[in-house]
Amino acid sequence: MKKFLILLISITLLFAIIIYYTFTWGSELLSTIIADIIPAEIQKQIGESSIQSMDIKEFEKTKLSVYTQTKIKKQFYQLVEKDSNEVVLLFRKAVYPNAFALPGNYIIVLDSLIKMSKDTLRYADVMGVLAHEAGHLQYKHSLKLMIQSGLTAAIVGYFIGDFSAFAATLTHQLLSLSYSRKYENEADDYAILLLNKNKIPTLPLANLLERINQYSNEKNIPEFLSTHPVTKERVEKLKKNSNFSSFYN
Ligand SMILES: [Zn+2]
Repeated sequence: MKKFLILLISITLLFAIIIYYTFTWGSELLSTIIADIIPAEIQKQIGESSIQSMDIKEFEKTKLSVYTQTKIKKQFYQLVEKDSNEVVLLFRKAVYPNAFALPGNYIIVLDSLIKMSKDTLRYADVMGVLAHEAGHLQYKHSLKLMIQSGLTAAIVGYFIGDFSAFAATLTHQLLSLSYSRKYENEADDYAILLLNKNKIPTLPLANLLERINQYSNEKNIPEFLSTHPVTKERVEKLKKNSNFSSFYN
């Protein structure tokens, strides 16, 4: 009897593990496939509706001067080697420093983040954050995340016969994008490559992350610091990869 019980528990556990991994790996794989087949026009619509809902719930119009906006935009488009038709950089105001990459190639950067910059000449630190967000766009992380959370909620909804959680999850997801450690690493690696290519040091980004880490409380963890416990590790990686010390000479 005891042996049978152990066998039963083992089989149940094994099934639980198989279901868990199929579910997590499957949704990662599935979201990658779906993200790749969603037409660019639909991705844009998803991004735009995210921005609309964030504008209502979270943001105010930017208070940055046109001069500052133009300066940052110019450096950003130079950095990503794209124009405003390919990536749209938007400025918004909120009390906390943050930046977001949204489906359809949108990046939103908040005034408070720009104000934390220690380099108003070339904004090397802000460029670091924007390069990180460009990495999220490159790999369609926000779209994949929306698909993944949508899938999970849709499957749960199917089993419990209630899809209201599905709708709520999607709305919530738009406002609190929190990426996995894997996605953050990919975006950081992309940022390091882009910054190195443009001969911009990564140290200012590392310093900015540290400053924001000290400033932010648990409630308002900026997107690019969402993997909070490993911020130290990420900062060290950025410092290690920092070349171009002649940048400021
Ligand atoms: Zn990020």
